[in-house]
Amino acid sequence: MNLTSRILIGMGSGLLLGAFLQWLSLPADHFISTFFTFGLIDAGGDLFITLLKMMVVPLVLVSLTCGSASLGATGKVGRLGGKTIGLYLLTTAAAVTLALSLALIINPGLSASDQGVAESTGFVANEAPSIKDTLVNIIPSNPITAMAEGKMLQVIAFAVLLGLAMSKAGEAGARVLAVFDDLNSIVMKLVTMLIQLAPYGVFCLMVTLGVTVGLEEITKLLTYFVTVVLALLLHMTLVYPALLRFLAGLNPITYLKKMREPMLVAFSSSSSGATLPVTLRTVEKRVGVSNNVASFAVPLGATINMDGTAIMQGVATVFIAQFYGFALGPEQLLMVILTATLASIGTAAVPGVGLIMLAMVLGQVGLPLEGIGLIIGVDRLLDMLRTAVNVTGDGAVATIVAKSEGELDLDVFHDPEAGWVVEPDHH
Ligand code: ASP
Repeated sequence: MNLTSRILIGMGSGLLLGAFLQWLSLPADHFISTFFTFGLIDAGGDLFITLLKMMVVPLVLVSLTCGSASLGATGKVGRLGGKTIGLYLLTTAAAVTLALSLALIINPGLSASDQGVAESTGFVANEAPSIKDTLVNIIPSNPITAMAEGKMLQVIAFAVLLGLAMSKAGEAGARVLAVFDDLNSIVMKLVTMLIQLAPYGVFCLMVTLGVTVGLEEITKLLTYFVTVVLALLLHMTLVYPALLRFLAGLNPITYLKKMREPMLVAFSSSSSGATLPVTLRTVEKRVGVSNNVASFAVPLGATINMDGTAIMQGVATVFIAQFYGFALGPEQLLMVILTATLASIGTAAVPGVGLIMLAMVLGQVGLPLEGIGLIIGVDRLLDMLRTAVNVTGDGAVATIVAKSEGELDLDVFHDPEAGWVVEPDHH
């Protein structure tokens, strides 16, 4: 059985078990709750996420240094960087625009007041970091601190510079690059090994979700929820396919099929950062993007490209405006597109941050920040869905850039079994 099927089975059975446990509604001090649900299962889920996170810094450092070193030799770094960042901004702006248009057609906020959504009180939005700080902070004053604190943009900047210098340092550079290449194979191997745990990790995460998620909030906010889901679906099934088809001449179905595993891990973990090792491995080994392009585009995308988050922010802004009876004029809508694009760049790739960054968008167009309190109840599920869209977008841009640079291996792309993680040998 292939990995995707096993992950899906883990997901489905975890969700069923979780829902069953919620239905049982055992007291918190019941031994099943303490030892199983909030003991073993919780630990299993945490362990899986932690193992993935453990790989992020070593993987990005080693793999991107190699990538940047080989690009440095060809002088392609600047062009590649420009293309990748340009496409990331473009897809995000398209995502917000789509979300705004859909929200203005469906009007999710107009019906919310009569569906009994209580006006929220007392929600205090955290302060979102400013755009200037986000930009200046790209360069680390101390790369070790950057790695220790997992500041991905800083690690990326350091790895790119290190790789560039390696490509220009003659024999010394070549010797160290050979070591980095070997390290890269080893780190990738470890990722492949850890991915085999995905069905079990996902199972645990889904049990926890099934036990703790409440569905009443959704019925109250149904129109908002459905609008976000619809916009996410449209973006995934229209925008990425169109870009893959027209910019790269590739079959989008093939691409989306290959991305199932990162999508499922992103969905279960709600963190594109934690999913990064799975995304990077898939984009290289299953989709066929060369390490040169993938090692740069995918970590950068995981950090700055959040189309799903931008979609939620677009719909949420319209929802909150309508709920409080504000009208958004054309300039304000443009402002939303701009700030949501920038906000999604500043959004950390961890669960729930998209909602915090929404404060920046709301503040920019003068909407009450307490509005965030209205939608917080359904955000957990939407976070899962938008994170899956976020990683799909990272891979799509990496693939398009690779194709345009002649860095996409079409044999790998067209081979359905390329990079397949096989069932571990039991002999
Ligand atoms: N959870 C999202 C991610 O990691 C970020 C967000 O929208 O909250 O991609």
